Amino acid sequence: MSIGTTGKLQEEVQKRRTFAIISHPDAGKTTLTEKLLLFGGAIRLAGTVKGRKANRHATSDWMEIEKQRGISVTSSVMQFDYNGHRVNILDTPGHQDFSEDTYRTLTAADSAVMLIDSAKGVEAQTKKLFQVCRQRGIPIFTFINKLDREGQNPFDLLEELEQVLGIRSYPMNWPIGMGKQFCGVYDRKLTQVELFQGDDHKEISVRKVSGYDDPVVKEIAGEYFYDQLVQDLELLDVAGDEFDYEKIRAGELTPVFFGSAINNFGVQTFLENFLQLAPSPTPRKSTAGLVDPLNEKFSGYIFKIQANMNPAHRDRIAFLRICSGKFERGMSVKHVRVGKDIKLAQPQQFLAQDRDIVEDAYPGDIIGLFDPGIFRIGDTLCQGGGLEFDELPTFSPELFSKVTVKNALKHKQFQKGVDQLTEEGTIQVFKTIGFEDMILGVVGQLQFEVFEYRMKAEYGVEVQLSRMSYQFARWLVGDEIDPGKFRINSQLVKDKKENYVALFENEYALRTAMEKNPNLKFLEMAP
Ligand code: GDP
Repeated sequence: MSIGTTGKLQEEVQKRRTFAIISHPDAGKTTLTEKLLLFGGAIRLAGTVKGRKANRHATSDWMEIEKQRGISVTSSVMQFDYNGHRVNILDTPGHQDFSEDTYRTLTAADSAVMLIDSAKGVEAQTKKLFQVCRQRGIPIFTFINKLDREGQNPFDLLEELEQVLGIRSYPMNWPIGMGKQFCGVYDRKLTQVELFQGDDHKEISVRKVSGYDDPVVKEIAGEYFYDQLVQDLELLDVAGDEFDYEKIRAGELTPVFFGSAINNFGVQTFLENFLQLAPSPTPRKSTAGLVDPLNEKFSGYIFKIQANMNPAHRDRIAFLRICSGKFERGMSVKHVRVGKDIKLAQPQQFLAQDRDIVEDAYPGDIIGLFDPGIFRIGDTLCQGGGLEFDELPTFSPELFSKVTVKNALKHKQFQKGVDQLTEEGTIQVFKTIGFEDMILGVVGQLQFEVFEYRMKAEYGVEVQLSRMSYQFARWLVGDEIDPGKFRINSQLVKDKKENYVALFENEYALRTAMEKNPNLKFLEMAP
């Protein structure tokens, strides 16, 4: 390989940032994503707006741009360029689409942006997604949104991050006033005041100051807010955490930004800081040790398989995260699990609705591969073979249904369908002990619907799903597992690898079982 190739690979890797936005529905994820895309290349291509002027554009303009450019913010992966960076945003479906895929997508991100509604604080879905990021130890950046509305006291929000999520924080900026009286933010790093002003609050002006004790700050904030601001900032300086880059990179400290996505306030500052602090693609664990993105042999793994994206074609798309080397269209790679070489002829990118064909791509990028049914979640593709990336974790399901086949004569197809859909990661399957009844476990309701639909469409089998009242699953690890101790509001089952799993109806039942079995470990993910 020539040095030129290596240099190019390094340059491409260093400029990439691949992240997911984690939030609870309604916190403003769609709004924030739109604003981020407006700053990026997606808009430069359209030739309509540049830089800060983007904030003058209302949602209707966005819709128009979306139509013209064929950009959909509901795409699975969105890519844009900004200040020499190439940014990949991985979509983590909220609302009805929440599923195990959402968790798996997080494994493909190098960092996460946690979006919080200032009035609501840390909500349920944010908490779940946060825990997955925490497990991986990736850096987490917090954007506290909707400062133009009456929200909670900023200190209470930071306290909540620590109490509920167990993460310490470093506020990068601090709000001056809130709700109707929101004047802007004080940027602690750049020592400047960013003002939220103009008739419609759409003008943003920046005043450089010598520190928060600069008389200019008082002039801008007014006596009342100034006193509060100084008090707050002094408290942060004295009692708050210090800015610590290493801790941020280890996911132990989250930089916090206050803003208002809908008004585009604080979004650009956030983006610029994020690009500076967030990591470029990092090495990934494999059976052959850590795989460096700068390794010139191409490698990647499949983290999501989406069926029937286009009902007319009934095709499947496997999403591959590139981990090392350069991807080129038409290249041959080893499909390690099956031990065969395959040609990657028609890879796709997802920004455009008319799926673009990708010619080349680099570590951190996600490509979509046409899947005639040869891929499973977690599969490794690489040049030359010889390594497999670590298996993707199995996440604790929260909804359970007993499943039976309506027509007993179709039992064989039923079993085949269940096996394949389980392997693909569509659902998790458990068996009761003794009776071998089949129980499906999922993270989101949509997974049941997809299962039912695909069983009928692809295997010709109608299934009957009966919802069960369990809410928690815990993998049990230990020597003495006594089924008798799991009878009250709970049930003992086995997963497909014959691991014992206990299902519980409520937290009380879970706690009781934990107390009764002090020698067992109750794991939230499969061991
Ligand atoms: P998602 O469900 O997280 O994707 O949230 P959306 O982006 O759809 O936003 C949910 C609602 O919050 C919408 O009505 C937005 O207009 C509104 N919203 C988003 N950001 C802000 C903000 O900064 N301030 C206010 N007041 N509303 C916002």
